[in-house]
Amino acid sequence: MLAILGGVPACHVDWPPWPRLSDEGQRRVNAVLRSDRWSVSGRSRGEKSLERQFAEAFAAYCGSRHGVATDHGSSSLALAIESLGLPAGAEILVPAMTWVAPATAVYEANLVPVVVDVTASTGCFDPAAAAVRLTDRTKALIAVHHYRSLCDMPAVLDFARGAGLAVIEDCAQAHGAMLNGRRVGTFGDVAAFSMQQGKVLAAGEGGAVLTDDAGRYDRLVQLRTDGRRYVENPGFDSMEVVDGRSVMGTNRCMTEMQAAILLSQLPLLDEQHAIRAKSCAIIGRRLEDLGLPPFGQPAGVEQESVYKYAFRWPVERRRGVGIEAIAAAISAEVGFAVYRADPPLNEHPLMRPWTRLRYRAIDSVGAFEGIQFDTPVARELAEQTLLFHHAPLLAPEHAARIADAIEKVATSIDELAAHGTIEAPDPD
Ligand SMILES: *Cc1c(COP(=O)(O)O)cnc(C)c1O
Repeated sequence: MLAILGGVPACHVDWPPWPRLSDEGQRRVNAVLRSDRWSVSGRSRGEKSLERQFAEAFAAYCGSRHGVATDHGSSSLALAIESLGLPAGAEILVPAMTWVAPATAVYEANLVPVVVDVTASTGCFDPAAAAVRLTDRTKALIAVHHYRSLCDMPAVLDFARGAGLAVIEDCAQAHGAMLNGRRVGTFGDVAAFSMQQGKVLAAGEGGAVLTDDAGRYDRLVQLRTDGRRYVENPGFDSMEVVDGRSVMGTNRCMTEMQAAILLSQLPLLDEQHAIRAKSCAIIGRRLEDLGLPPFGQPAGVEQESVYKYAFRWPVERRRGVGIEAIAAAISAEVGFAVYRADPPLNEHPLMRPWTRLRYRAIDSVGAFEGIQFDTPVARELAEQTLLFHHAPLLAPEHAARIADAIEKVATSIDELAAHGTIEAPDPD
């Protein structure tokens, strides 16, 4: 019998916790706390701030020339967009299937998000669907690498070049993923990352922006640091940043505590990718056999980065049972939250720009219309998609148990159908 109906769960596993801090990370954080430099505005003792060290290490890891650490992924996106210097009223194409931040960040930059449909196999940006939304105001697109799938960057770049658009990569869910020999975040003009609690590189809150362009880097630093920029040799007991006097900014800096955590986590990331890949291989094969296909990848993916494991439960395999009830049933078997995907942005309950006074000015150019376009592929995909967080994938020795739990629900779907409505679990 299904666990959700009172049966014995398919597995009893203590799943790995997330986020986690190594002893080395603990030592680094303690050292910061004992010092008098908790942020870049603390007094320098001649050493670079940790947030700057992290930005450099992370840029080097990704293969980008320059990095700026930030307080959040959302700020990273807003800064990345602002760094492009687009004209007022510019429209930015945003894929429909994603977290709300790529769209809200466009509003934060006083520009206009335009929602476009996604590729059915990956749930990522679809150049063909985007082509339909081009106007003479379209100036950029945000390529969001989503869950575990990557955008087909060669196709996205081709499209962008043809349409004369700047490319922002949103890599909040894909730190370290590799396509055609390059890590994500190095394909577009500028890239944004998040180091929020659930991401594969996590500091509770945090983010980074990467770019190869030295001028853009200089603007990004000033936009982030109240208009200040770094000095190479701050005098003893002075700040590491001085007035830049070219760009007005705001404060979106990362703390030294966050940077200490991230400096300790970055060296572990590739090993964690390899461990999660083992789990994905085990689970993926089983789900394919069950007719519950995992999300696909474009050609050329050499390294996956799994933020959420996404697979589809087609309507014809449900006997009328809702996707939420299936999610709840799997959760009860497996002992961690399995949940449905967010609805497309144009139907997303958190997309309410008209509730913000400051966005009304943007709406004078029709900013709220752009998030209302219909996106049938994303809608259908969201209706079929089940997700779970990457943390359980860090235990590949138990990956088969996850597949067992899903299989148990698939083969007991009649039991669920006979039972009627079941409440959905809360996402992580
Ligand atoms: C998490 C996330 C963000 C925003 O990051 P925060 O650090 O939470 O502000 C942006 N884009 C995507 C795709 C995300 O998953």
